[in-house]
Amino acid sequence: MSQPPAISIRDLVKRYAGEKGAEGKLALKGVSFDVPQGQIFGLLGPNGAGKSTLINILAGLVTKTSGSASIWGFDIDRDHRNGKRAIGIVPQEIVFDPFFTPYEVLENQAGFYGIPKSERRSEELLRAVRLEDKRDAYARTLSGGMKRRLLVAKAMVHSPPILVLDEPTAGVDVELRRQLWELVTGLNREGVTVVLTTHYLEEAEQLCDRIAIIDHGELIADKPTRELVGMAREKVIEVTVDKDPAKAADQGAFSRDFIHSFELLEGNRIALTYNRDDVSAGQMLNHVQQIGFTVEDVTTREADLEDVFVQLTGAG
Ligand code: ADP
Ligand code: MG
Repeated sequence: MSQPPAISIRDLVKRYAGEKGAEGKLALKGVSFDVPQGQIFGLLGPNGAGKSTLINILAGLVTKTSGSASIWGFDIDRDHRNGKRAIGIVPQEIVFDPFFTPYEVLENQAGFYGIPKSERRSEELLRAVRLEDKRDAYARTLSGGMKRRLLVAKAMVHSPPILVLDEPTAGVDVELRRQLWELVTGLNREGVTVVLTTHYLEEAEQLCDRIAIIDHGELIADKPTRELVGMAREKVIEVTVDKDPAKAADQGAFSRDFIHSFELLEGNRIALTYNRDDVSAGQMLNHVQQIGFTVEDVTTREADLEDVFVQLTGAG
């Protein structure tokens, strides 16, 4: 508990420069959260939410407008060199010089960090990402998945305690995704703190210990995955009744402890949210009948992380 966070972000604001004096895009509106050490931390959000902006600020590729961030306890303004040494970042865009080989890519990166020849781990890293066969192939001849894996190896050259991956599996096929996750969970087991952005919710649910969701530059959730998925234990039942339920609603007929929330919809319909661990759909229907309605139609659906996400972001 007393362990300092791996990454700490406070009131982070980014406004991109606008064109010809116009106000630029406000990509981050004051975001604060901590990434605990040793975890796999998921940063989720729809396209344009500000995920890459945040990560690129940590990477030193984008300058923040205000707020602060520290990496492994090093403030990115005051102690930027130490911060940079503590983090390895796999950017969303794949960029390589096509004429370098995987081995050279890793050696160049090691040189960039001033790592002496005797302490370099290029061979070991190539094995870890299963590119030992491609050691001397030109980068341009690698498949998309191989390039991704090479980028992971490149990010780990200086053995940082934190690895950040920005949309590592976007456009990657199922098998390569599995390989990538094996690699990432393996590094995490060895103690590396992992931050990843993804819009595959199922993936986040399976991999991440904790999930933060940002939308339109604002943090809208930051919880252990268990709790977020716990929110998804909720179920929604939509009931069409024989008369307008507004009056009953005003009188508190749907404000009961076993009903988490209710919403009046068009056409005498009510959406009731409940936890399926507490009550059943049948009990919910009984309640609606007991307060004097005839039930004309019913639909139910399970909520999942996707629902929680949609609920919170208003997307979809
Ligand atoms: P995400 O990674 O979550 O998809 P981004 O951080 O890439 O989101 O983008 C957040 C917002 O900032 C978007 O509206 C995007 O268009 C805008 N944006 C990103 N990069 C720039 C830039 N270099 N200049 C101006 N606006 C940008
Ligand atoms: Mg992005």
